[in-house]
Amino acid sequence: MSVYPTKLAKRGDGRLLIEWSDGEQRSYSFSELRDNCPCASCREKRSQPPAATTLLPVLSAAEARPLEVQGMKPVGNYAYSIEFSDGHDTGIYTFEFLRELGRVESE
Ligand SMILES: [Zn+2]
Repeated sequence: MSVYPTKLAKRGDGRLLIEWSDGEQRSYSFSELRDNCPCASCREKRSQPPAATTLLPVLSAAEARPLEVQGMKPVGNYAYSIEFSDGHDTGIYTFEFLRELGRVESE
């Protein structure tokens, strides 16, 4: 029997809180979720060695704003797709994967 989220909330401190069916509460920073995006293009980007340039990356206006989670949509009954404020929304975060990320809240 696998666990599933029973409640999603954006907290005032800029973290996402997920309550799970077994009572566990985990919080996630938006950038942690974005950095671990499981979609194919992000996985490919992460597997590449860092570019050997010393130029500063040029950020688009959307990238320069603080990153936010703009929406989460259920995918089947096993995952969420997360839409980020930088326009990226192709990552499918399975419940199993979400349980590996974030940190357990002490309460
Ligand atoms: Zn991605």
